[in-house]
Amino acid sequence: MHILLVRFSSMGDVALQTATVNWLRALYGKELRLSFLTSQEFTSLLDSHPGIDQVISFNRRGGEEWKDLIAKIKHLDSEHPLDLIFDLHATMRSFRLKLAFWRIPALTVDKRRWERFFLTKLKGVIFKRLISPKLFGLETQVERIITDFDSLLGKGQGKWKTREYRSGPHGELTSLGELPVYALPLPYIVLAPSASFLYKRWPIESFVNLAKYLLEKTSHDLVILAGPEDDFCKAFSEIDSPRLHNLQGKTSLKESMSILSRSIACIGNDSGMNHIAEAYGVPCLTLFGPTDPRFGFAPHGESSHHISKELWCKPCSTTGKTPCYRERHFCMEMITVEEVGAASLKILGEA
Ligand code: SF4
Repeated sequence: MHILLVRFSSMGDVALQTATVNWLRALYGKELRLSFLTSQEFTSLLDSHPGIDQVISFNRRGGEEWKDLIAKIKHLDSEHPLDLIFDLHATMRSFRLKLAFWRIPALTVDKRRWERFFLTKLKGVIFKRLISPKLFGLETQVERIITDFDSLLGKGQGKWKTREYRSGPHGELTSLGELPVYALPLPYIVLAPSASFLYKRWPIESFVNLAKYLLEKTSHDLVILAGPEDDFCKAFSEIDSPRLHNLQGKTSLKESMSILSRSIACIGNDSGMNHIAEAYGVPCLTLFGPTDPRFGFAPHGESSHHISKELWCKPCSTTGKTPCYRERHFCMEMITVEEVGAASLKILGEA
């Protein structure tokens, strides 16, 4: 049995799909050959995963053409004939791919676009509650995907879990020999103040005050993880403590993954870093602003938690991309440092 999973982007969504990998591997064991097609920039999320046999990349940003990708999949199919394509993206690109390989059976994820659309459009907390608590239930996207596929495959086992993504003797990715550059003192907490869209970010001043709170209330070190473009993390420079390690812009995706895998908790926005931490079974605290945990991206680990304020204007978009139209960014500003601090201590088991 050879299955090709397809999810081109984004970082968090690709990380979330490691749960689908784990589920398929648990279901079929060694009889399964599993290939994963993703965008070039996210291959490092997957190429050390013990459940994946081969990662196929598509470097569209680097100028790779569609015909080159088709040739790659043809080659894959000729070497190990494909039995099934799992389309976990359901975009025009993935539909084109399925069309090109129409002879291969395919399953396509139901992204519940209508549910998310209505949840975004039907403003009013009470109204949304009345409409259908079942329709807008809190189960995760991954749980939905696996439940759907499980019934389509007729397996009826419904097993799913995001964990078991660790492969090294200490729970780290084995391919990370480069990591000793960042010899971080254990144990440490990761703060992830970035997000793909501005409006999904809790104010940086709040993150700085949270860092002060955690330095005072715990004995753990803190590690800041963010991308090279996230200059706003310079705000942490006002904290003069050897226990604060600001690695914004200093780590590759692979290094960030390894750092996350060894952390004792990750506190951040509804973003890729939190989804990666979840994939390693690290307790997460996720802060939701314009998006809604009912979209299915809340952390679901036993010790994980999320904070999301109830506002008439929320959710205002399905991705967090839409600019805020209110005079203030209430959905994030209403989340206080004290409540995030208290919830952090809770997920650390130190409340
Ligand atoms: S305050 Fe309301 S309108 Fe503004 S980003 Fe948040 S949810 Fe959207």
